[in-house]
Order: sequence, then C-alpha cells, then structure tokens
Amino acid sequence: MADTAGGTARSERDDAHVFYSWSAQELVRPVTVAGGEGAWFWDTDGRRYLDFASQLINLNLGHQHPALVGAVQAQAGRLATIAPSFANPVRSELARLIVERAPGGADGGLNRVFFTNGGADAVENAVRLARRHTGRQKVLAAYRSYHGNTGTAVSATGDPRRWPNEVDPGVRHFFGPFTYRSSFGATTDAQECAAALRHLREVVELEGPATIAAILLETVVGTNGVLVPPDGYLAGVRELCDEHGILFVADEVMVGFGRVGEWFAVDHWGVVPDLVVFAKGVNSGYVPLGGVLIAERVAASFDHAAFPGGLTYSGHPLACAPGVASIHVFEEQGILDRVRSLGERVLGARLRDMASRHPSVGEVRGLGFLWAIELVRDPATRERLVPFQGTAEQNAPMVEVTRAVTAGGVWPFPQVNRLHLAPPLITSVEDLEHGLDVVDAALDVADRYVVE
Ligand code: PLP
Repeated sequence: MADTAGGTARSERDDAHVFYSWSAQELVRPVTVAGGEGAWFWDTDGRRYLDFASQLINLNLGHQHPALVGAVQAQAGRLATIAPSFANPVRSELARLIVERAPGGADGGLNRVFFTNGGADAVENAVRLARRHTGRQKVLAAYRSYHGNTGTAVSATGDPRRWPNEVDPGVRHFFGPFTYRSSFGATTDAQECAAALRHLREVVELEGPATIAAILLETVVGTNGVLVPPDGYLAGVRELCDEHGILFVADEVMVGFGRVGEWFAVDHWGVVPDLVVFAKGVNSGYVPLGGVLIAERVAASFDHAAFPGGLTYSGHPLACAPGVASIHVFEEQGILDRVRSLGERVLGARLRDMASRHPSVGEVRGLGFLWAIELVRDPATRERLVPFQGTAEQNAPMVEVTRAVTAGGVWPFPQVNRLHLAPPLITSVEDLEHGLDVVDAALDVADRYVVE
C-alpha cells in the first residue's frame, strides 16, 4: 500500500482499525500517547511534549489532575450510570454550581441547565430551544466560526468544515468583527465594531426580524482565529436581539470555564445571553460533557409543553463528578485570577515582544490563556504565510514551523496560517516561559519566508 506521508503504512500499525476525525485515513500519522501529567504528555518512546493546545483546548486543569481523577473513581464506585429521567445528586450539584456562576448572577436569569454529551449536541439543543420558544426557524451565525459536527451545528459553522455537511436550510451567515482582516475596510477596533453591528442589523432587516429565532456567536472565536470582539460588539448584538425578540446564543464551548479568565467569556464584557452553550472546560474533558445554560423565561416555555429532546447520557454521573471537582479546584486555587494575571503578564507580553521582533508575525491577539500568532509572508499586504484552503505544497511553510515547535517539545494548535497557543490553566510560569522560548525560536523558520 502506498505510504504517502512517510512512516509505517496504516495496515501495519497498532491503530489500523481506528477511523480518524477530519482526516484522509492513509495520511494520518498520530503520536501514540502513553501518559500525561499536568501540562505535559509523553509518547510511547518517552518523548515529552508541553501541551500548549490543552489537547483540543479542553484540558483546562491539565492531564491527570488528582481531584478530577479521584472524583471519577469515587463516582464509579458510588453509581456508574443512571438514566437522565432520574434525579441524581451529582448532576443536581453540578447544575447548581454552574447556575451560581452564570453570566449576570442571580439577576441574569440563567438558572437551568440541560446537559449533553459535548459541544455540538449542546448547540443543536440550544437552537432547538430557541426555535420552539420563538416559533421562528432562522438562525444567524458568523462566518469564521465553528459550532460542532452535527446537523445544525455544522450548518451554522462558518468555515470549510460546513461545506460537505450542510443540512439545515434555516441557517444564514454574517461577518463578525475582525479588525486585522476587516470585511468592512475598518482600521480601528471602534470602526470595526460599528461597521460589524451595522452589517448585522442590515442582515437582520433583510432576512426578516420576525423569522429569526437566534443569533448564535462564539463569544471569542476559537479555531477560526482567536477573534476577541471589540468592546461594545456583544452589547450591540444583545440590543439588536432585544429589539426584535431574537434570542442571543453564546457558544462558550471553547472559552467558557476559565479559558479567558472568567467563568464565562461574556462576563468580560458584562453581557448576558439568553442561552449559553458549554462543554470542554466544564470538566476538562475527562468524561464527555456539554450543556446549555437556559434563561428562565425560555425554560418556562416548556413548563407545560414537553421539550422535544433528550439524550441517554444527559448529565452522566461520571461526567458530572469531575465537573463538580473542577469548580472546587478553580475556587480553591484562584484559577480565574491566575489566568487573568499570567495571560497578560506572561503570554500577552511575551507574544507582543515576539511580534515586534519577527517580521512573519502579522498580529498576535488573545485573552487569558488563548492566543493566536497570525503569520504572514508580507507584513505590508498581510498576505498569509500559507493561503486559506491551500494545497499540501502551499501549506509546507506552516508544516515546517509547526514541526520546529514540536521538535522543541511543545505541542501547539496550528490553524491555516496561525499558531494558536492555549496551555492548561495550571501551567507553571516556568513552563509557560519555556514553551514561549520554543515558539520564539520556531518563528525564525517563518521569518525566512517573508518577502524582502
Ligand atoms: N463550539 C465551539 C466553539 C467549539 O470550539 C467546538 C469544538 O471544538 C464545538 C462547539 C463542538 O464541540 P464538540 O467537539 O464537543 O462537539
């Protein structure tokens, strides 16, 4: 069998029977991971990597956190599984703890939780709640977004992962704010904010406000570039939704539970959505879990009419137990304060310094422990280091840069022409500095591609 990617042919490997996500199966060459601890994991050859991707940006408390592992073990010994139609103490406890930390506090009204198995099905159910509550079908979602790999979630996704999978005819897309590559010709965040809100208002008007159930937004856009919204944008979206009885759905799957230094990223701007979708960081992904935080007035629509949705494993006790443990760890160890302070003082400061020294860095942007380095060939025109949807040959420079980082024992999260950095929230200052040193050195590789 042809082995185009080098290394052992698939049929001869131990993982020959595993079918991998998002991949041409003959080209996958996964690292076989033997173990992990804290911010580090290692392969079966003993090679160690500092996890600057927190796996898929879910491992907020790091590998093998004893409190989380202990919670899973204790719950397995107590009650390993129970159907969602029964009340269960650990599920009830996690729902209460999440509601107590919901955007807007007790006045925000987000006081119910529907648990799911992960992020995509949480998005599905949030949209279903919005559609049933409003009696409207359309959902507006942003280009440059990812919402998950199921029917409506992937249809709402504003990147190429949608193209082969689009099934929901009710979704329409719009442009969110992105000053560095503005769709509106803006050059400042304030201009971009005003233009993006004007554009969204126009889309709402032209689609017909009375046909729109929800505006679905990643609070900080994750895989599509770590796009931090300019001040005023989310408040503007909230206002537009209120004017037309549209529900504001915040997708916080990647950025909730401390990733950007708040329980929920919307807290950074003091905005209260009607529905908040979460997963990943809620329990660091030790057991799959997601959910939707629901405003009381939306939940009330289902007080006497059944909600038409459910999942066998909704609020699985083995998933809720590390969720409860995780919230206690956050509180006991001051994780949110740590992320706010080190995110700016170490990650932000060092990355801005790199941007000033490496001509290949067009921009660095981020918040808390979630950052992107945008690599360019030409800082003047902002031409990407590799094109959007490039061929394997065109993408070679990014592969080279990424290899330089992994060869230095750091595991980044590369996307198109960007390196995303998202270490576990417990990473020591020493390890953060070490990882950044490796990234800094690897940027020399990207600099070689910059045009004179
Ligand atoms: N929403 C966002 C913002 C995400 O980043 C992701 C996953 O990366 C999802 C939804 C889908 O979550 P899951 O993969 O758990 O279904």
